[in-house]
Amino acid sequence: VSVTARHAENESGAFIGAALAGTDVTDLMRAMAVKDEFIGLVSHELRTPLTSIYGYVSMLHERDDLPEIALKQLGVVARSADRLRILVDDLLEAAQVTSNGLSLDPAPLDLASIVAEAIASARPHAAGAGIALGAELPTQVGLVGDQVRLAQVVDNLVSNAIKYTPRGGSVHVTLDERADAVELVVRDTGMGIAPDDLEQVFNRFFRTQQAADQAIRGVGLGLAITKQIIEGHGGAIQVASELGRGSEFRVVLPVEVVRLAS
Ligand code: ADP
Repeated sequence: VSVTARHAENESGAFIGAALAGTDVTDLMRAMAVKDEFIGLVSHELRTPLTSIYGYVSMLHERDDLPEIALKQLGVVARSADRLRILVDDLLEAAQVTSNGLSLDPAPLDLASIVAEAIASARPHAAGAGIALGAELPTQVGLVGDQVRLAQVVDNLVSNAIKYTPRGGSVHVTLDERADAVELVVRDTGMGIAPDDLEQVFNRFFRTQQAADQAIRGVGLGLAITKQIIEGHGGAIQVASELGRGSEFRVVLPVEVVRLAS
């Protein structure tokens, strides 16, 4: 049951009573579970034909009798298949995360090298988009966490920053170690987020009007997954932004467990 409460005042502002309203949300929860199950099934089914597309694309690539134009067209097929794969993976993951919760596989790791690798792999993308990508990282930041999931967080934040920043802008990443926490900040000079949208960007399938208007591709799942991963590590994520000027995503992760021996 979801409960809402209101209080009533007289003209001079004195409290005169309260009203409580309860709504049975069982049907809503059931409908959401069915939706997640459906998304999970569909995305799983979409993976099989994708595997066959990849297989044939790579077989065709290996032939040496293909004309130049066919190779180019094959490249388009491969890139479209890549986009579809990312979409399907995101959908499948979002459905899995909501139905089973997020499973983490924690181990001692070095967050500085995870961030450095994410930045190195985003470099070609940033260069192609005409964006200066910079970072200030300590040599090592030890904590206990899920290596794959934390890499996914950094990838999501950095690739969003690049995606939502127009040509000529910049993206800057910093990682700082405090006494009991690690702070990762990804700052961009991009399109920004309106104040009313700030809290919603972490909701599944939410996209800002600005992102949709500019026909920037996405489904609105990356930040929802990112937030779940961070919270699964006992951390928190916040965003500050100014429309038309840029955004700053700040992740704080606790490091109370073990520090890596250096
Ligand atoms: P996607 O990018 O696939 O739409 P996300 O969950 O990663 O999904 O982001 C949700 C929405 O938040 C985006 O559609 C966009 O509107 C907004 N957003 C995310 N990152 C940024 C950013 N760095 N600058 C401006 N808007 C952003």
